[in-house]
Amino acid sequence: MLQVKCFQVNPFMENTYVVYDRTRQAVIIDCGCLYREEEQALEDFVRDEHLEIRHVINTHLHLDHQFGNHFASQTFGVLPEAHREDESMIAGLPSQAMLFGIAERVTAQPLGAYLAENDIITFGQSSLKAIHVPGHSRGSLCFYAADAGMIFVGDVLFAGSIGRTDLPGGNHAQLISGIQSKLLVLPDATIVYAGHGTDTTIKRERDCNPFLQM
Ligand SMILES: [Zn+2]
Ligand SMILES: [Zn+2]
Repeated sequence: MLQVKCFQVNPFMENTYVVYDRTRQAVIIDCGCLYREEEQALEDFVRDEHLEIRHVINTHLHLDHQFGNHFASQTFGVLPEAHREDESMIAGLPSQAMLFGIAERVTAQPLGAYLAENDIITFGQSSLKAIHVPGHSRGSLCFYAADAGMIFVGDVLFAGSIGRTDLPGGNHAQLISGIQSKLLVLPDATIVYAGHGTDTTIKRERDCNPFLQM
């Protein structure tokens, strides 16, 4: 049984997830905290719930999903993990942040390990499987908890929409085919936690997502 806590953070309204089970071991998915009060809220939650952060993992490394990686590694002593194909975006973080006028708040945090297709991220009695679905970024990963019936998809898929493909590394046809072949084949009731906006289900997106109708 997995518990999921979502923090909506930074000017991009990015969803930072804390996922944990009864052992109180936890993972943070896409630590996007930018402002001190966002960091404090996450830190307070981890302390109040007596959680032990085992992994800090990224669905991808667009700036809004990696803002908080430095804070998380300093605070919880765990280095971030992401797909190698997105790693170059870490060096680009300061200049990206400059474009948005928030450079002074941002410190680029190198990865501690790479994640790739079919890797298993374990914590407590639980695990997440990495599924590589490129097209929004080259290294986009989704994290699937089959037993719990949930998947964290970053910016690959949203309730009623899909990720943008006009940024470097984007590829619309690749994104659509990855969603069709790797996500829509999951059980109907699978809860989809996206990088922005509300959660949804595989069935709802298979049936109603206007970008995925044949
Ligand atoms: Zn993105
Ligand atoms: Zn995003």
